[in-house]
Amino acid sequence: GDLPRRIHQIIEPWVSRQPDAPALLQSGTVMSFGQLDAAASEAARRLTQLGLRAGDRLLLVAENSIPVVVLALACSRLDAWLVPINARLSQREIDTFVDHSGARLVVFTSAVSPEAEAHAQRLGAAEVDWPGCGRFHLTSANIAVAPEPTIADGEQVAALIYTSGTSGAPKAVMLTHRNLLFIAENGRCMRRQTPADRVYAVLPLSHIYGLATMALSALHAGASLVLAPRFEPAAVAAALETGRVTILHGVPAMYAKLLEWGRRPGNRLCAPALRIAQGGGAPLDQSFKDDFEAAVGITLHNGYGMTEASPSIAQTRLDAPRRDCSVGPPIPGIGIRIVKDGADVAPGEVGELHVRGPGVMKGYYKAPELTREAVDAEGWLNTGDLARQEQEEGGDGALFIVGRSKELIIRSGFNVYPIEVEQAINSHPDVVHCAVVGRDVPGNEEVVAYVELVPGRSLAPQALAAWLHERLSPYKIPSHIELLEHLPATATGKILKNQLRQMAAGAGVGQR
Ligand code: ATP
Ligand code: MG
Repeated sequence: GDLPRRIHQIIEPWVSRQPDAPALLQSGTVMSFGQLDAAASEAARRLTQLGLRAGDRLLLVAENSIPVVVLALACSRLDAWLVPINARLSQREIDTFVDHSGARLVVFTSAVSPEAEAHAQRLGAAEVDWPGCGRFHLTSANIAVAPEPTIADGEQVAALIYTSGTSGAPKAVMLTHRNLLFIAENGRCMRRQTPADRVYAVLPLSHIYGLATMALSALHAGASLVLAPRFEPAAVAAALETGRVTILHGVPAMYAKLLEWGRRPGNRLCAPALRIAQGGGAPLDQSFKDDFEAAVGITLHNGYGMTEASPSIAQTRLDAPRRDCSVGPPIPGIGIRIVKDGADVAPGEVGELHVRGPGVMKGYYKAPELTREAVDAEGWLNTGDLARQEQEEGGDGALFIVGRSKELIIRSGFNVYPIEVEQAINSHPDVVHCAVVGRDVPGNEEVVAYVELVPGRSLAPQALAAWLHERLSPYKIPSHIELLEHLPATATGKILKNQLRQMAAGAGVGQR
């Protein structure tokens, strides 16, 4: 048949072929493809009645649940932009996004999220109960703001996604229907997804990894999504053991927590139906990968991407599982260059990764200058990440991400890649995870590590430093190691390094 031009069309073949097959499952509720389509159509009708026009923005203060998927499809039907943000953000962040996006309607997934409910109350939203969608809150905002122009083909904006804000203030990325459909199709093929698959959907749908790679690619394949509003290791373990889940997606921090849960007395990880464990979104540690694979008995795949690329750039292949922490070769359709000082590096050398292809964003919303800095006239997006490509004879050209170029620490003239130091620290049995950042001192940069220990363990910073001396060159050993109860992280579990950099720059750095 015709290729879909809008994201809501991905379910159309399944609505006719398997209307009664489950599309969404959420704590006891099962919604079929037929019901999902009917609910999206009804929601589109009601959104129109509420004044939502093509080119308007609908902002969702969300945790994963049925209304998010229904309203995403409804927005696509209306050519409105979906702006999903995480309900666990602060008041100030949410108000900033409502304002910046110029959203005309704001929805809160209050049925699953006390945080969303609190924001709804604070902003005076009304409770509604729509057929298929269920209960949620809704309010209008920015009623004087005009809709954005609509575009007839796939270049129409489907979603506005705020980046994780790991390196600074979040940026608003405009992703088109063409961008998202490329990722949906890629995910379906790369993971060979079929209607027999059941995907555990705990990555936030407010993040592009959750929205496109996890959710859209599954629905596009006629597979079902088990919607989980937040990451609870025990709930994930139960779903894996008895819920017939075949595909799990997570960021490394989630896998680390799952593994830690599995090690506690009385707990066990058992995933009889699981055929793919997919990681990505942040650097994967060799020790986590090895331990997870030993505990669960399947490969932990790695993928690399960014919001600006919708997100997938590279992916390890099902047929060529990796033992190391490579992110795999670029996905089909994505071109890469590895650049240093404006020229391609020699094969195998580290440089800044530039990518081009159908996943690359339309641009940053209301920031043409920033867009021109990120994407050149020929469509190459500078990822800001440092990478090298494997040059092995007969190899598949797998990529290794060595860090963000802005995070590279230059200490006494030597390059320190934080990821390398983090991996060494993370391999200590008492460590859950850590983050390594640079700290400016007169004429130099210091290496600072923030470390979260396994609950109940104690490890002195001096002891950790001594342990690192057996594994790393002296210049890579952090000059300060500080233990934190919890590292600051986003809802997806990404460590907010910018906050830690500010902490390091301030006074509160402990001497080792
Ligand atoms: P911001 O752009 O606001 O600072 P962010 O870059 O963390 O936040 P995302 O778009 O969610 O926002 O994340 C993309 C980044 O995550 C990549 O640029 C890369 O640095 C990192 N990343 C993603 N996947 C991997 C991976 N598999 N291995 C290592 N790093 C990864
Ligand atoms: Mg980024």
